[in-house]
This record gives sequence, C-alpha cells and structure tokens, in this order.
Amino acid sequence: MIHHDVVIVGGGLAGLRAAVGLCDRHDVALVSKVHPIRSHSIAAQGGINAALGNNPDARDDTWEKHTFDTIKGSDYLADQDAVEIMCKEAINVVYEMDHWGCPFSRFPDGTICQRPFGGAGFPRTCYSADLTGHVLLNTLYERAVAKGVRVYAEYVAVALAAEDGTCHGVVLIDQVRGTIIPVLAKATLFATGGYGRVYFHSTNALINNGSGIGMAYAAGVPMKDMEFVQFHPTTLLGTNILMTEACRGEGGYLINNKGERFMERYVPKAMELAPRDIVSRSIQTEIETGNAFENEQGLYVHLDLRHLGERMILERLPGIRRISIDFAGVDPVREPIPIMPCQHYSMGGIDTNTRGETTLKAFYAAGECACVSVHGGNRLGGNSLLDTIVFGKICAASIDEFLREQRRAPVEGVVARKKEEMEIKIRKLSDSGNESPFRVLDDLRKTMDECVGIFRTEGELEAGLERVLAIRERYRRVKVSSSALHMNYELIGALELESMIDVGHAITLGALLRRESRGAHFRRDYTKRNDQDWLKHTLVTRGAGGEPFVSYRPPVITRYQPMERVY
Ligand SMILES: Cc1cc2nc3c(=O)[nH]c(=O)nc-3n(C[C@H](O)[C@H](O)[C@H](O)COP(=O)(O)OP(=O)(O)OC[C@H]3O[C@@H](n4cnc5c(N)ncnc54)[C@H](O)[C@@H]3O)c2cc1C
Repeated sequence: MIHHDVVIVGGGLAGLRAAVGLCDRHDVALVSKVHPIRSHSIAAQGGINAALGNNPDARDDTWEKHTFDTIKGSDYLADQDAVEIMCKEAINVVYEMDHWGCPFSRFPDGTICQRPFGGAGFPRTCYSADLTGHVLLNTLYERAVAKGVRVYAEYVAVALAAEDGTCHGVVLIDQVRGTIIPVLAKATLFATGGYGRVYFHSTNALINNGSGIGMAYAAGVPMKDMEFVQFHPTTLLGTNILMTEACRGEGGYLINNKGERFMERYVPKAMELAPRDIVSRSIQTEIETGNAFENEQGLYVHLDLRHLGERMILERLPGIRRISIDFAGVDPVREPIPIMPCQHYSMGGIDTNTRGETTLKAFYAAGECACVSVHGGNRLGGNSLLDTIVFGKICAASIDEFLREQRRAPVEGVVARKKEEMEIKIRKLSDSGNESPFRVLDDLRKTMDECVGIFRTEGELEAGLERVLAIRERYRRVKVSSSALHMNYELIGALELESMIDVGHAITLGALLRRESRGAHFRRDYTKRNDQDWLKHTLVTRGAGGEPFVSYRPPVITRYQPMERVY
C-alpha cells in the first residue's frame, strides 16, 4: 500500500494549483490518467477573467462588477458568497501566475492584455493569444515538478475508499505496469474535470467523462445542479473542436444562410457577445427554422472573421486559424468557418462549499468536477480557468488546515477492503455477460444528445430517462474480453461507464424535474424562469438501494436580488 499525506486525482489546472499550494509542507501525490500536460486544461483558448482594468475600455472595472456579471450570467443560481470570493481573488491569482512566469500577451504599455467576452460589462478576459490554457498549465506543471510533487502519470483512480463518513484514500490502476494499487491518504482531493463525454458531440477531451464525479457519488457525496450543461455556440462542424469565444470577442460575426447577422433578432444590444446559453439557443433556432447551411456533415451557420484582417487573426487567433485549415480545410482569413453548437462545460458536479469541502470528511473537490457553485445555471466564458485556479488554491489552504488539526489517522483496512472489492468487480466484468461496453456507452451518449440537449421537453426527457434506465440495466450484463490491467482501455472504459451512467441519470432526472427555464436549462414547455418554485440547487444523492434521491437547497444570496436577465 502506498502512503501519502495528500493524494490529488487530476493533473489539470485545479489539481496542479492545489499541489503547488500544499507541497511545501506536505507529501503530495498527483495522479492523472494521462500525462498532466495532456489534461483538458491544455486546450483552453480564450482566456481567464480578472478585473485588472488594463484594457483602455475597462479602466472602471472592479471585482464587484465582475461578481455582478457572473451572478447575472448564472441566472441567479450561483452562490453569491462563492462568486465574491472568486472574483476578488481573481486579480491575485492572475498576477501570481504572471509572477510565476506565465507568458500572457501584453498591451504596448507592458500590462497583461484583456479582451471582451460574452456577458461581461468590460473587456476583462486576460489571455495569451488563443493558447491561454496551454501557458497556464505549463507554468503550473513546471512549478509542481520543481517543488517535488510526486506525479503518478497514467494511473487511473477507480474508487474512493470511504467508511463512516470519512475518506481514507483511493484505489488506482497503474496502467503501464498492470497493477492495482491502494493509496492511503490523510486527505484526498478530486480535480478530475468535467463530464462532457457523457454526450456524443462535445468539445471535451475523451478523458473528460465525469468518472470522478461518479466515484464521489458512489461514496455518498451528492452531485449538484447536474442538469445545467453548457452548450458552446461555436464548435467546428464535423469534429466539434472549439472555436473560442475570443473569435467573437475580437469582433467575429455569426451569419446565417440568408447572409444575416441573425443575433440582431435575438439580442440586438449584445449581439454575438451575449452569454453562451443565449447564443447557442439562437443558433439552434436558426438551424431549426431553415436558416442554416447544410452539407454532408450536417446543418451549420458561419463564424465570419474575414473583416478582422489577416494581421489580427495571425496575432490573436493563430490556433483557430491552424485548426480551421487542418480540420475543415477553411482559412478564416479568406472564408467563413462552418460552426454548430454542442456540449462544452459541466456547470454541475461534486457538491462542495467555498472551502472545497464535501459531505465526506477528508475528501475535497475543485475545478470543473466540483460545483461550488460559482457558475449557477450558466458559466461565463473565462470564468472556468479562474474557478480552477482560485478553488485549487483555496482547497490547498483548507487541506493544510485540516491536516494540522487532524487527530485520527486514515485506516489501511478501509483502503485494502476497497481494493479487494474492485478486484472482484473486475473479475466479474470479464466473467459473464453479453453486452459490449462500447455499444452501451454509444447509446448513453446518443441518448444524452437526443433527449437532454439545448432545448428540452417533458416528453423527450421522459424518453431519455427511460433509455438511461434501460442502459443501466444493460450495464449489469457488460462483459470485457480480458481482465488484464495492462493498458486495457476496454476494462477501464467499462469501469468508468458505471460512473457515466450515474452522471447521465442525474442530468436527465434533474432536467425532467426542473419545470422552468434557467440559464442553460431551457424547457420548451416551461419557457420562463420561476424563482418562486425553482430558485434552488438540485442535489442528487445515492440512496441505500443505489437509486438516485433528489433534494433541493436554496442558493446563497448576499447583495444581488434576482432580477430579470436582459442583455
Ligand atoms: C476546448 C476547451 C476550451 C476551453 N477554453 C476555456 C477558456 O478559454 N477559458 C475558460 O475559463 N475556460 C475554458 N474552458 C474550460 C476549462 O478549460 C476547464 O473547465 C478547466 O480547464 C478544467 O480544469 P480541471 O483542472 O478542472 O480539469 P482538467 O483540465 O479537465 O483535468 C482533469 C484531470 O483529471 C484527470 N482524471 C480524470 N479522471 C481521472 C481518473 N479517474 N483517474 C486519474 N486521473 C483522472 C485527468 O487525467 C486530468 O489530468 C475550455 C474547455 C475546453 C474543453
């Protein structure tokens, strides 16, 4: 059995920031199923929000204005105390990353560049061309390694070891050596990223499947606000690679098959820079009303950057140009980019408080897998990178405090028992059954795309729930061809599939029950927000028989009473 003070599962921005905050005083292990630098954070393009006021158009910006924009963007579901913490701390963490060597783009006066993003009153998104995640992640990874964080790359966490309301560690599979490893830890942090790949069409990396959220749920921690799924307006037709919001932030247009800048009909003031939920619904409406282009890959509209000019595109959006040429054969300097909306971000996740604590003692969560909640019903672009770094840092501080006060050592027996349980499960998966895990996964993803998408109705959601329940039943008969642990993606996939089904189930159930429209959750049969009945977080907890149990909790409101959300 391996022993560490702290085990962090997740080598993205949240996990690395927490590791950097803890490793001076504690022995920290960082586990990631891929090399940390391949975490999805690397793909973030557009930027990170902080009210620095560097842009000449943003001299009056303040963290309070950032707070208000975020709460309004969340459709008033976010916990306002958490948003205040994040927006205030934003300025510190961006300068901290800057001092640690993160190469941000610069204005001529030497200050960090900031660009406009959707739903923000000021240009406050700090960036490094269209490679912001890349530079942030490399900066933190270098720092973590230099400080001696022990990195377990290509190890997959398959279960949390918890008993009597306390977490004692995790069980890992070492994919390279093909062994199963129990890890005893005084504190465990999940920074496992979002659940995008529960959907078929997603901008997320294939590893982002919500397995961490599912493992926490299996250990008794509630999932929060899972029905709030962000669909990004602009993803490349065919591959669904993200075309960053910065394309519109820099002045890009959205154009339909009639040559119209159609956002004029939906949000004439904010136009292309309305928040994502609104822009995605507008594009989907254009598609459904015959205003879209069509080719063998499907229906789409245009993202037009041509008027920005070659120089600006090369300087600010070089990655977007490269991706468009390589994956769509389109050079945005000369042609418009074909785009469609699809799944992008998980607003919901592991229920935590503002210190990253969960209902399970010694177990914490941060980053996209967590729901603090700072994004509520709809996340603003540029606020997620911020969430990962701020709450990664805060989690480090609360774990440090917990370790200094901790009286009882974690128990080896709990972790050893969990390991045995996993060994039995793995044997069973290869023993009997007739269902291919890949086929079941495919059906789950299609169900989520078809039944729990941008627009939702009671009928579709009921059908979706029925399909998820049938998928859950089929999972009992899943069989893998081998129980060998060495690089066995079929087996890992089958283990993770159970979590993905739980996640899909919670999304569908939460969406079916929520009879209103708020943020990214839009019901065609209940088109209005209903604060009277639904100004509350959804919590899904695993019942004794394994069934999901739904409860609700009001959001924290400090200074901003819910108002109509107009842009
Ligand atoms: C294409 C794209 C562009 C984006 N652009 C922006 C942007 O410009 N601005 C912004 O604010 N946000 C952006 N976002 C969102 C933002 O990038 C993510 O929310 C954020 O990076 C998530 O970081 P994280 O640390 O929580 O998780 P991730 O970076 O997703 O890392 C998750 C980690 O967990 C590990 N892991 C997961 N499960 C297991 C397991 N079972 N065992 C072991 N390891 C595991 C993975 O290996 C990985 O290391 C973008 C997202 C995408 C998909």
